[in-house]
Amino acid sequence: MANVAQNAFLGLSRNELTALVEEWGEPSYRASQLVEAIYRQRVESVEQISTLPQQLRSKLVKMGATVGLPKIDKRFVSVDGTVRYLMEFADGLSVETVWMPEGDGGEAGDGSEAGDAISARGWDRATICVSSQVGCAVECQFCLTALLGMKRNLTAGEIVGQVCAVLKDQKVSPPQDRINLVFMGMGEPFLNYDNFIKAARLLVEEVGVAEPRMTVSTAGIVPRIHDFGLEPLRPKLAISLNASNDAARTQLMPLNRKWDLEKLIAAAREFPLRNRERITFEYVLLDGVNDSVMNANEVAELLRGMRAKVNLIALNPGPGIQFSTPAEGRVNAFQQTLIRAGIPTFVRRPRGRDIFAACGQLKRTVEIATAPAV
Ligand code: SAH
Repeated sequence: MANVAQNAFLGLSRNELTALVEEWGEPSYRASQLVEAIYRQRVESVEQISTLPQQLRSKLVKMGATVGLPKIDKRFVSVDGTVRYLMEFADGLSVETVWMPEGDGGEAGDGSEAGDAISARGWDRATICVSSQVGCAVECQFCLTALLGMKRNLTAGEIVGQVCAVLKDQKVSPPQDRINLVFMGMGEPFLNYDNFIKAARLLVEEVGVAEPRMTVSTAGIVPRIHDFGLEPLRPKLAISLNASNDAARTQLMPLNRKWDLEKLIAAAREFPLRNRERITFEYVLLDGVNDSVMNANEVAELLRGMRAKVNLIALNPGPGIQFSTPAEGRVNAFQQTLIRAGIPTFVRRPRGRDIFAACGQLKRTVEIATAPAV
């Protein structure tokens, strides 16, 4: 039982819960009751697991068992409906998780928007942006999370827990509600690979998120891209490209020294895609740095013949970031160049810039004018 106190229930698979229940000398159907309470009802405390006999609940509480749902420390609500949550874990560290009703356009062109219909509450699908680490070790020069440095990996339970806490707060449930997940919050998921994969599995098998509605983004950890292609259950793959040649990419993303464009693009070309699946390449446009038509032509060359799409993100500014946002005309010219080269290219809508919730702005920013709506 000691491990229950350390690990909490969230993050344990059905098999692991079954083993625990047997250790307690309880019938194995208790494992199903736990799964239901933790992942579907999304209870906050062991006391709330009403399907367990009171005696067992008391015994578990005495042993220090917890559910492990992160605490919503703060909510920042944007004028565009985006909500940035500050989620606190048992050790007091926290990450950010973002709720985007209607998504951010990043899903365009991948089929997941098909069949949607606007519902009475004003959105037909929503996207949750999930964090994988506290801080980040990849030193991308345009990203605020990088300034935090790396604090620690999240456990599988902490990754799943962010989703459960947001679903509970928004009073929605997949699969009835169309929920997309993007593992594009704080951290580099492929540097916390095992926990991320376990979380993805639990989200599909127990929380009920549809596998094709999940996308993970990597800064380009090449060996893990290979591993990821072999996973029997996996989200779709997005790669943060962000530059069109090695010199520029190494400047912007120092990890390019280790895994350069040749290695990265080779891994992408070898990646086993499923029916109608495409790899997404994200490209942050920095004014006068990587956003010329020449850069766009280089990107087209890199991606030639690949089943790929490109998501352009005009820089979301932040304190301590030395770059600026290109004018709309430059963004459009870049997009048109890629489209003319036959590559489906979309511009991601910035969501929640006013509350520092947009791409690259996640940094536990509490010191902003917007009052938290608690
Ligand atoms: N570490 C992973 C997951 C984070 S995804 C990765 O790098 O892919 C976050 C996305 O936001 C990445 O595509 C990144 O390139 C982009 N991004 C980072 N900083 C940004 C900024 N200031 N403005 C716009 N996009 C940014």
